[in-house]
Amino acid sequence: MIQPILPGATIGVLGSGQLGRMFALAARRMGYRVHTFSPDQDTPTGQIADVEVMAPYDDLDAVRKFASNVKVVTFEFENVPTETAKAAASAAPVRPSGAILHTTQQRIREKAFLRNAGLPTTPYREIRTVEDLEGAVAELGCPSILKTAAFGYDGKGQVRVESPDRALEAWSAIGRQEAVLEAFIDFEREISVVAVRADDGSFVHYGAIENQHSRHILDVSIAPARVPAAVANQAVEMSRCVLDQLGVVGVLCVEFFVTRDGRLMINELAPRPHNSGHLTVDACVTSQFEQQLRAVCGLPLGSTAMHRPATMANILGDLWQSGEPDWAAACAFPDVKLHLYGKLEPRAGRKMGHLTALNHDAEAAYQTVVRARRGLTRNDAG
Ligand code: AMP
Repeated sequence: MIQPILPGATIGVLGSGQLGRMFALAARRMGYRVHTFSPDQDTPTGQIADVEVMAPYDDLDAVRKFASNVKVVTFEFENVPTETAKAAASAAPVRPSGAILHTTQQRIREKAFLRNAGLPTTPYREIRTVEDLEGAVAELGCPSILKTAAFGYDGKGQVRVESPDRALEAWSAIGRQEAVLEAFIDFEREISVVAVRADDGSFVHYGAIENQHSRHILDVSIAPARVPAAVANQAVEMSRCVLDQLGVVGVLCVEFFVTRDGRLMINELAPRPHNSGHLTVDACVTSQFEQQLRAVCGLPLGSTAMHRPATMANILGDLWQSGEPDWAAACAFPDVKLHLYGKLEPRAGRKMGHLTALNHDAEAAYQTVVRARRGLTRNDAG
């Protein structure tokens, strides 16, 4: 059992994006102090934290110094280098552990872990040579998806292979680095389970959340997911297995494809609060960020009960194309909550904020959030 870290203590966050920001908001509300570490300045997390340390992740002396000033280190960005997590661990506990980051930040290791745990993944092959690639395309067929083994997120480092004669071109497009080729899954829908595990093994989850992507980036999340209860339960049980086997202390999100015949395949693991769980801030008794805080501080986990069905819609930088979005138009929907991350530069594809709508009628929540988002860039919100 870990010694509880109580309000008033300082928590360190590696990474400084919106996940760290919402974590810091939860932590400060409960009376904790927050330090954040990243190579950037005036960041989404830094704007909320007590202290913002700006240094490269490979400045291990700076990392050790950062960790020595906090009671526990967590991260909001899973591509923190393993050496950085190790350096932090020399001065403070790191939760979840660096070993979990190591497994989940590289697709080949992640898929090998899932396979060894007896959990279903998309059919895939490891690619290190041209021969591997040719063999994999012949076995998995086309279309298929080539993904870099390391440092991929939001569709970055991914190319669709349309025909065998285009495979080499696709591999060149991602720099001919170590990769996986995945069979293209003509899924019925995508779901995720945001789950939390405490040090004593206790486990809570938010059920299955449905996710719609646009250009490989999450666009809309709907809770509860529109899947049969048996599918949702199975996804939760698989997620429990993932968190137990990895020994996670904190939040981890499991992303699934649901095939047209109702089977589940795990696409990815994210060992941290997840975009699909943002709706828990407004819709649930305890948000995913507060759960992360409770877990890493050794406090009992909170209730995940949902007040009302909810839908979340991301606000990407693309919405700034014709100037500042009309925030008042979104606020004109009384059941819609606006979240902005304080990012200074709205670039295309960049996650700038999100909207959450709550309604006793799940379909109405969906319709409302979509209308509210449309209203951001139009004069009438209708
Ligand atoms: P990823 O970065 O691996 O989570 O991929 C981002 C998104 O691309 C997923 O959420 C899917 O919408 C799509 N995608 C990724 N892999 C596949 C696949 N093997 N088959 C079909 N769609 C995929």
